[in-house]
Amino acid sequence: MENSVRDTVILGTGCSGLTAAIYAARANLNPLVIEGHEPGGQLSMTTLVENFPGFPEGIQGPELIENMRKQAERFGAEYMAGHLVSADLGHYPFTLNFGSKSVQARTLIIASGASARWLGLPSEQALIGYGVSSCATCDGFFFRDKPITVIGGGDSAMEEALFLTRFASKVTLIHRRDHFRASKIMLDRARQHEKIEFLPDTVVEDVYDVQKKEVSGLKLRNVKSGKVWDFPTSAMFLGIGHHPNAKMFTGQLDMDQDGYLKTHDFVFTRVPGVFACGDVQDRRYRQAITAAGSGCAAAMEAEKFLEEHGR
Ligand code: NAP
Repeated sequence: MENSVRDTVILGTGCSGLTAAIYAARANLNPLVIEGHEPGGQLSMTTLVENFPGFPEGIQGPELIENMRKQAERFGAEYMAGHLVSADLGHYPFTLNFGSKSVQARTLIIASGASARWLGLPSEQALIGYGVSSCATCDGFFFRDKPITVIGGGDSAMEEALFLTRFASKVTLIHRRDHFRASKIMLDRARQHEKIEFLPDTVVEDVYDVQKKEVSGLKLRNVKSGKVWDFPTSAMFLGIGHHPNAKMFTGQLDMDQDGYLKTHDFVFTRVPGVFACGDVQDRRYRQAITAAGSGCAAAMEAEKFLEEHGR
């Protein structure tokens, strides 16, 4: 596999990458699919997906991803674990460097998605894995019958808060404003849940207790009144959105001010033969189904590109 030239390399195994893999594999491109630090992407960290067409009762995110993975494999997709260190998109075929391995590609589909955003407090960073988490489905279980705090005001925060009510004695949802980005249905569900309490207009200033290597509480500040107080809690889950995973293409592909890859005509980057799909290039919709749709388009364009270049 090393140093071989592949027709299509797909970076990422989330919804967009795996959909691209299904289409590319069915087009006989024998795609090499790179599985990075967060295999399965955001869907693998979620619970019930209720809005993916075709599942009237909903489907668990990890199950949906596993199904896509198997579906692509059935048609010949190959998987390789790897973290992209650097890429040379200036020479053809493109070279992708994964540390000890390098791969050359005639077409590249970037589906590297987006990763969880953190508040950026030193105490928060020191306590990741010790009560600070961005994945309720991964870590919620450890806080059975304990008070848990969720940060954020979007659908992710509502979803995390609702999921964590299974374990927590109480969930406190802290949001920096009193307006919520979350959809009405999710917000209503969270508001109506007896275990969830809302703390709007509030920001976290510090997380205790770095010395003890466990979360024992938060220093909070009300942004309207200025009041500062200590709030006991056993865990802090972040649900404050995501940032695109595109840094490795800085200088080679166009990006917007927040680092999202710029595409034209849905999935084209400025480099012919390099396509981008899913959350790494979509700051507007960010849905599983739109990620899947752009993954399909990227694979179809890759196939067309190869055909036009005599493959
Ligand atoms: P989002 O909609 O961008 O919401 C992020 C939230 O975090 C906002 O309320 C934002 O506050 C807050 N925030 C951001 N940075 C912060 C900081 N430094 N400190 C404190 N708060 C901060 O992100 P998301 O909830 O992850 O949702 C992303 C997309 O996925 C949306 O389109 C959503 O509908 C979708 N989604 C859907 C579902 C579902 O349907 N089941 C589940 C999850 C996600 P401000 O509002 O003040 O900016």
